[in-house]
Amino acid sequence: MSNKLKGKSKSKYRKQMRLNDSHQKESYKKKFLNKILKFEDPMLKTVCELVAEDENIENIKKDMGRVLYYSGGAGIAANQIGVVKRIILVLLDKKNPTFLINPEIIEKSEDEIINSSESCLSFPGVVGIVKRYKRIKVRYEDEKRVIKEVEFKDYNSIVVQHELKHLLGMCDLYIIWKEQMEENNKKSSTSAVINKECKDGD
Ligand SMILES: [Zn+2]
Repeated sequence: MSNKLKGKSKSKYRKQMRLNDSHQKESYKKKFLNKILKFEDPMLKTVCELVAEDENIENIKKDMGRVLYYSGGAGIAANQIGVVKRIILVLLDKKNPTFLINPEIIEKSEDEIINSSESCLSFPGVVGIVKRYKRIKVRYEDEKRVIKEVEFKDYNSIVVQHELKHLLGMCDLYIIWKEQMEENNKKSSTSAVINKECKDGD
């Protein structure tokens, strides 16, 4: 069937296609954002395994790339989307997506610690100050599985340290979230006591 439409019907058709298109884009985006595991998910507490030499990780990389793109995050670890492998993807200098496979810190600036204000895709709405090494040297395999040793500093160092912690089944934002929850519970139980006392006093 031909698609030749004229005049008004053509523009109506185009408008409809645009709507369908944006709707599709939205559901595609949602599909990837739904992959992000959150809060108490056991995967976030699982220590990730080394990626084997001949392991095919193309699909994992594609998924991680899309999730990071749609989320607008600075980095993501594989277990945040349910893959317990030592793979992280970070946006170096806030713009260059870089995969680090089987990464490990081999040097750190123990005498230079910085406070960084962080959030995490797995703990939406939680922000906290975390202490990080200003500089770290990391040994990892790049996308082509070539071994590299790279020094990261400041912003890049922070993002890499955040993601590396995920691979150990940990996240500093988890601790901050837990503390905030306990604080909120205390507050609500205190206000319950105050309410009760006010009532009793009536
Ligand atoms: Zn995180």
